[in-house]
Amino acid sequence: MHWHSLSIEETIRELKTDINKGLSQNDVKERQKQYGKNILEAKKGKNLLQKFIAQFADFMIIVLICAAIVSLAVSYMDGNPDFVDPVIILMIIFLNAFLGVLQESRAEKALEALKKMAAPTAHVLRESRVSEIPSSELVPGDVVILETGCFVPADCRLVHSVNLKVEEASLTGESHPVEKSANVRLLPETNLADRKNMVMATSTVLYGRGVGVVTATGMNTQVGHIARMIMEDDTPDTPLQKRLAKTGKVLGISALIICIMVFLVGIYKKLPPFDMFMTSVSLAVAAIPEGLPAIVTIMLSLGVQRMAKKNAVIRKLPAVETLGSATVICSDKTGTLTQNVMTVTEIASVNGKEEMKSDFGFFLLSHAALCSDSILQTENSLPVISGEPTEKALVLAAYNTGADKNQLDLAYPRIYEIPFDSARKLMTTVHKSSEITAYRSITKGAYDVLIERCTHIYKDGKPHPLSVRDKNKLNSINNTMTGRALRVIAVAYKNLSRFNPTTDASSLEKDLIFIGLIGMIDPPRKEVKEAVRVCKQAGIKPVMITGDHILTAQAIAKDLGILTNPAEAITGEELSRISDERLNDTISRYSVFARVSPEHKVRIVKAYQNRGEVVAMTGDGVNDAPALKAADIGCAMGISGTDVAKKASDMILTDDNFATIVYAVQEGRGIYENIKKAIHFLLSSNIGEILTIFAAILFGLPSPLVAVQLLWVNLVTDSLPAISLGVEPAPKDIMKRKPISPKKGMFADGLALQIVIEGILIGSLALTAFVIGVRYYDHHSLHESNTFIPWVGRTMAFSVLSLSQLFHSFNMRSHRSLSEIGIFTNKKLVISFLICSLLQISVVSVPPLARVFQVVPLSIRQWAIVLMLSMAPIVVVELQKKFNNKRHSS
Ligand code: ATP
Repeated sequence: MHWHSLSIEETIRELKTDINKGLSQNDVKERQKQYGKNILEAKKGKNLLQKFIAQFADFMIIVLICAAIVSLAVSYMDGNPDFVDPVIILMIIFLNAFLGVLQESRAEKALEALKKMAAPTAHVLRESRVSEIPSSELVPGDVVILETGCFVPADCRLVHSVNLKVEEASLTGESHPVEKSANVRLLPETNLADRKNMVMATSTVLYGRGVGVVTATGMNTQVGHIARMIMEDDTPDTPLQKRLAKTGKVLGISALIICIMVFLVGIYKKLPPFDMFMTSVSLAVAAIPEGLPAIVTIMLSLGVQRMAKKNAVIRKLPAVETLGSATVICSDKTGTLTQNVMTVTEIASVNGKEEMKSDFGFFLLSHAALCSDSILQTENSLPVISGEPTEKALVLAAYNTGADKNQLDLAYPRIYEIPFDSARKLMTTVHKSSEITAYRSITKGAYDVLIERCTHIYKDGKPHPLSVRDKNKLNSINNTMTGRALRVIAVAYKNLSRFNPTTDASSLEKDLIFIGLIGMIDPPRKEVKEAVRVCKQAGIKPVMITGDHILTAQAIAKDLGILTNPAEAITGEELSRISDERLNDTISRYSVFARVSPEHKVRIVKAYQNRGEVVAMTGDGVNDAPALKAADIGCAMGISGTDVAKKASDMILTDDNFATIVYAVQEGRGIYENIKKAIHFLLSSNIGEILTIFAAILFGLPSPLVAVQLLWVNLVTDSLPAISLGVEPAPKDIMKRKPISPKKGMFADGLALQIVIEGILIGSLALTAFVIGVRYYDHHSLHESNTFIPWVGRTMAFSVLSLSQLFHSFNMRSHRSLSEIGIFTNKKLVISFLICSLLQISVVSVPPLARVFQVVPLSIRQWAIVLMLSMAPIVVVELQKKFNNKRHSS
C-alpha cells in the first residue's frame, strides 16, 4: 500500500481507525493477533548446547582432551587399559563447562532484563485516552503522538504536524533534519526519502510535534524490510576486560613456559614421561588464567543487574568501570536536584506583587495558559493536568483563578506556534480572536530574554511604552523572586492585524507588550543534600548546570551544599565570553553554571576533561545528546528524558535522581574492588599451584599432584569462591576513598607483589604437606622419586592446596581484619567454602572417589596437619593486615 499517496481521510478509512478517539481495546487485541508484536526479529542468540560446546573452544582444553585420549590409547596398547583417568579428566572438563554455561546464562539474563527496561515506549491514543505503552504493543491503526526527542515507534502516516523535523539517517542516509508535513499528498512512486507525509520507525523527532496513524509495524516497516536492528546488539569489551585479556596472555605465556620447563626437568629427572606430560598439560590448563575476562563479565553483569534494581540502568558495560573513577558529576537542576513538581506561588506586575485572584492575575495567567501545551482534563470535577511540569503549574494556576484552558482554547484557537527551546528560552503561540483584533501572539519565557524584546508594558489595564524606570523596577522584582529560589516565567503579547505562517521567530518575538512575572517553586529532592555530602567526601565535585536564572540557581545550590560562595556561579553569557584556554584554567573555581544552553554543556565537559577529570553529565533533551556523548559517563533521565538523549547515554536514571548517580558511583567502585579481589584470589592460587609442582620437580621430588587433582582444584573448587567474592558488599568506607585513578593499573599499589608472595606461601604449604606425608606416613625417602607412589604425601598436598585456597579466599574480602568485618557477612562465600570443603573431604574420604582421584583416606592426625597448614594463609595475612593498619594509623 502506498500510504503516502492517500489523503488523511482515505488513510483513516483504510485503517479503520478514528483519529479523535484512537482504537478500542478490542480492535487492539484482534490486530495484535493478526500482526504480532511491533518488534524486529533479532538475531538468534546461541542456544544452550551451542553455548556448552563453545566452552570447549579453548586451545588448552583441546590439548587436554587430546592428552586424555592419547593416555587412554597408550595404556590400551600397553595391555593395561586405564579408563579412569581420561574419564575423570573429561568429567571435570564437563563440570567446568557446565558451570561456565550457568554463569554465562546468568550474565546474559541480567543484560537481557536491562534491555527490556531500556526498551522504547510510545504515546498512543486509545479509547479517547493518551497513555504511554511499550512500543512493541503498537498495531496498525493506532494513533501515536510524536514529540520533540522521541523515537518514531512504527511507520506512520502523519495526520497532524507542527514544525515537525525528523532525523531519518538510519533509513535514508540523510543526516540533516527532514521537514515533515501532514497536509500533502504524494505520487505513489515518490521515493522513501521524499515521503514528507510519512515518518518511519527508528527515526527520531528533532523538532516540533505531530500525530500519526500507524501504517506498519515490526518486520513490515521500512526498517523491517531492510532488516536492521533497533538496538545495537554487540557489547564491546570494557577497558578492564581488554587490559585483563592482555595480562592474561602474558601470564598464560609465562605459565606455558614454566609448564614446558616442568616437563623437561621431569624427563631429565627420569620421571615417567607420560605422567609428566599429563601433569604439565593439566598444570597449563589450570594455571593459564583464560577465565579472567569471563569472570569480569559475570561480575559486571551481576553488578549491573543490582544497579538496575536501584534505578540506574547501565546501557554500556564499560560505564560501570568509569563510574568508579568519576571525579566530577555535572547535574541538571530541574528534576534531578529538585523534584520537578512546580507550583505557582506568586505573580507580579511592574507595581510589585499581585493577587492571583484579581483581574491582573486572570489576564496574566490566562495568557500563560494559552501559550502552554499541557492538557487539562477534569475527573470528578477536579483538574487533572498532563504535560511538562512548568506548564502544568501555569495551567493549574490559571484554572484556580477561573481561567479554564479548554475554554480559552475554544475562544482563541491556536493557529501557529514556535515551541519552547532551552537554547532560546522562549515559546510563542499565535491565536485567532474575533473580539480584540484579528490575531494575538503570546510569548512566554525567561525574564531576562523576554524583556529585551518588549517595547511596551501592560499596566492599569492597557499598554504603555516601557520606560527605563519600569525596566529597573522589573529587574529588581525579578531579582528578589529568583533570589528566593523561584523559577520565574515572564509573559508578553502583541496584537497582529495580519498573520503570515511563514513569519520567522525574530519578527514575531519583538515589539512585545510585557504583562508580568510568574514565580513558581520547585523544592529540592530530599535525598540530594546527603548525596552531595557523600559526593564531596568521596573526592567528587558536584556541579549544577541549569537553564534557570543565576540567583535561583545560587539559592538552590547553596541550600544543597553544592555552592558555598556566590562567586562559584557563572552564567552562560559569561561563559561564551571566555576562551577555551581560559576556561580550562578557571573551570575548577565554578560549581554552578546558570542560564546555560545545551551547547555550553559540551564546553564544560571538555574543559573538565582537559584538566584530567572524569566527568559524569546528565541530560534529557535532544540537544543534550552531544554533551552526553562527550562525557565519560552520559546519564540520561528515564522519566523526563527524550529517546534521543537516552540513546546517546551510557546510563539511564529511571528516577531522574542525582542521588542515583552517587549510588551508581558507589556501586561502580564496589564492583571494581570485587573484580580486583577475584583476580587477586585466582592469580595467587594459580601461582601457588605452579610453584608446588615446579619446586618439587626442581628439588628432585616426585610430582606432588597428578593431573586430575590439579584440574579438580582449579576448575572446580576455585571457581565458586571467586564468583562469591564478586557479591561482597561494598566496604563501608568506599565513599570515603579517593576516586579510582584510571591511569593506575589494576596491579598498582603493590598488589602484584602481594599476589606473588601469597602464591609462594600457598605453594610452600602444599609442599610442606607433601614432604610431611612422604617422610612420616609413606615412610619413604624423598629421593626415591620414580620408584614409589607417595599416596599419603599426595593426598595431603592435594588437600592443603585445595583447602588453603578456600581459606585464603576470606583474606581477599577486605584490607581490614576478619574480626572487624565479620566472618559470616558474605554468606555466599561461606556457602561456597562449605560446599567446596565438603567436596574436597568427600573426594579424599569416599573410597571409590579416592581411587579415582588417586588419593587415600587420611587419619585424624593427618587431617589435623592438613587443617593447620591450610589455615596458615589466614593467620599470615591477618597478621600482615594488623601490621599495615597500625602503620597507616600511626
Ligand atoms: P535544567 O533542567 O537544565 O536544570 P531548566 O529546566 O531550569 O534547566 P530550561 O528548561 O532550559 O532550564 O529553562 C530555562 C528558562 O526558560 C527557565 O528559567 C524559564 O524561565 C524558561 N522556561 C522553562 N520552561 C519554559 C516553558 N515551557 N515555556 C517558556 N519558558 C520556559
